[in-house]
Amino acid sequence: MARRKIVAGNWKMNKTPKEAIDLVNELKPLVVSDDVDVVFCVPAINILTVGEAIKGTNINLGAQNMYHEESGAYTGEISPNMLQEAGVKYVIIGHSERREYFKEDDEMLNKKVLKAFEHGLTPILCCGESLTQRKQGIYIDWIRMQIKIAFQGVTADQAKTAVIAYEPIWAIGTGETATSDQAEEVCAAVRQCIREIYDDATAEAIRIQYGGSVNGKNANELFSKPNIDGGLIGGASLKADFGNIVNYK
Ligand code: PEP
Repeated sequence: MARRKIVAGNWKMNKTPKEAIDLVNELKPLVVSDDVDVVFCVPAINILTVGEAIKGTNINLGAQNMYHEESGAYTGEISPNMLQEAGVKYVIIGHSERREYFKEDDEMLNKKVLKAFEHGLTPILCCGESLTQRKQGIYIDWIRMQIKIAFQGVTADQAKTAVIAYEPIWAIGTGETATSDQAEEVCAAVRQCIREIYDDATAEAIRIQYGGSVNGKNANELFSKPNIDGGLIGGASLKADFGNIVNYK
C-alpha cells in the first residue's frame, strides 16, 4: 500500500497568539488536500487557540517539543498528557535546534519517543548530520545511530505509525537544499535501518520526511522520490508558499 504523504510546518518560535490565528486563516484555504496529511507544529502558547481555529479543517495540530514525564517539578516544561488533552496529534522530537541549543541527547529523545507513544501522540523524530560529518563521509553511520537509540523499546506496531524527519543541519534555514538524490540516499538508508531493527512491513509503513529549505518550487522533485514521504518545513511554513508545498504535484 502506498504511504500517505505528510507535510508538517514547524513554526519554531514565531507568531504571537493573535498572529497565529491570522496565519491559520490565511493558510486554511491553501492547504486543502485529499491525499496529504497536513500538520501545523505551533509554539506551545498557541496550541489551544490554533486548535480552535483549525476545527472542521484538514489541518492536524502539532507541538514542537515535550518533556518525558507526566507531571512534576520540571519548571517550564510541557507534558505529553497536557498535549494530548489539548488536541495535539503530532510532536516534533529531537529537532537539531533542540539538540544543539538545549543539549538534548539521543537517550533523552528515546525517553520522549516512548512517552509520546504512551500518550497517543505521533512523534516526528528528527535526525540529520552536520556539514563536517557529511564531508567526513560518516553521515549515514551517524544517522543510523540516532535512529537506533531513539527507537529503543519502541514496538513494531508503534514504529509503523511514527514519522522520521531527515534534516541535514547544513540545509536548515540556509536556503541550501539537499539535492533530491542526496535526500533520497539518506531517507532510503533510514528505511533500511528500520528494516534491520524491525521487518519489511514496518519499514514500508513508517513515513520519512525530508526537511531543509523546502519550498513550493523544489517540493515536487523531493517528494517524488520513492523514500521521501513529505517534508518538515520551517521558513516556508509561515507563508502562503506552504500551500504550494502541500499541493506539490
Ligand atoms: C526546520 O526547521 O525543520 C526546517 C526544515 O527549516 P527550513 O525549512 O527553514 O530550512
